[in-house]
Amino acid sequence: MKSGLSAKANRYMEQHIIDAVRALRSELHGLAERSGEEIRTKAYLMKFLRENTSLRLEDEGQWFCAVHEEPGAKETVAFRGEMDALPLKGGASHLCGHDGHSAALAGLGLLLENRRLGRNIVLIFQHGEEDGTGGKICAHTLEKYRVGRIYAFHNIPGWPEGAALLRRGTFACASRGMVLSFSGTPCHAAYPEHGRNPGFAAARLISALPGLTERANRNGLAMATLIGAEIGAKAFGTSAGSAEVRLTLRAWLDGDLDALISSVTETARAEASRDGVEVSFAFCDMFPATVNDAAALERLRKICNGAGLGCIEVPEPFRWSEDFGHYGAYAKAVMAGIGAGAAWPQLHTENYTFNDDILPSALTLFSALAEFG
Ligand SMILES: [Zn+2]
Ligand SMILES: [Zn+2]
Repeated sequence: MKSGLSAKANRYMEQHIIDAVRALRSELHGLAERSGEEIRTKAYLMKFLRENTSLRLEDEGQWFCAVHEEPGAKETVAFRGEMDALPLKGGASHLCGHDGHSAALAGLGLLLENRRLGRNIVLIFQHGEEDGTGGKICAHTLEKYRVGRIYAFHNIPGWPEGAALLRRGTFACASRGMVLSFSGTPCHAAYPEHGRNPGFAAARLISALPGLTERANRNGLAMATLIGAEIGAKAFGTSAGSAEVRLTLRAWLDGDLDALISSVTETARAEASRDGVEVSFAFCDMFPATVNDAAALERLRKICNGAGLGCIEVPEPFRWSEDFGHYGAYAKAVMAGIGAGAAWPQLHTENYTFNDDILPSALTLFSALAEFG
């Protein structure tokens, strides 16, 4: 059986819906736009929903919501899909499968047509996931619609095709880009003692990283990945006056990430002052941990079983980050994985493209969650 779906689940999903979502996914693939530039993608999705559904569309500028409202609804449940692609050779390419995620979300829009669920449904089409900018902005909309629970999925290569991947607690790591800028005094290379070369403090900080991460690993994984470093310039007559170290720090828990950042900061300050140089810090690509709400996850598990979707317990959090973590501050949030296939090319690699054969699983998951909450 393909797609990890039982015969029961396959009957649940109409073929013409699956075909429409496949076609939409292919159109979105061709429109691929970078984070923060999802103009044509957003317009195409809005046009698709306007022409094929009676959902109320709320244009929020860079992103939008599609709203299913019922008189006397007792609660509101939201679903989120991302619209952005990754930068590639001057253009952009859907190397994370967000074309598939937003097509599946629009497919849920088709499935909501003429349905009476006893609850309102808000579909959030989010921009800027890859750089961590969109989720923070879009998450506020959960307050506006009084959303009680929000769900999303990510396709995940390396796991059985179409299976629902469930994880208690942290689903995806917290992470942060950190830039450490050391500055000293450049001088003639023949008289380095006349200046203050910050390269040595930067180098000592780099060699201290394994020890610092080891100490931060008490409750779960914490990592500091050396992304790059630069000391001075390619000028052989000058002793360096500046140095920059770039790190990506990540952890299963937000608290452990904060602790790791503090210890990296303290160590860098100590090493800088030892040599009489300055150090300053800047952060980018900030992602909170995506932590699944326990009760909502149990609901999702029951709903998957009822819909005939095969479930796999994921033994450890995924190391990558997802800005879906921001939504957990406003509602009970659950992100599930859907296996893209055991041998499917990994996310963010050049051979990757979204596996359309998992769309029936995604649509079944979304549709069952909309029906049963
Ligand atoms: Zn990605
Ligand atoms: Zn992604």
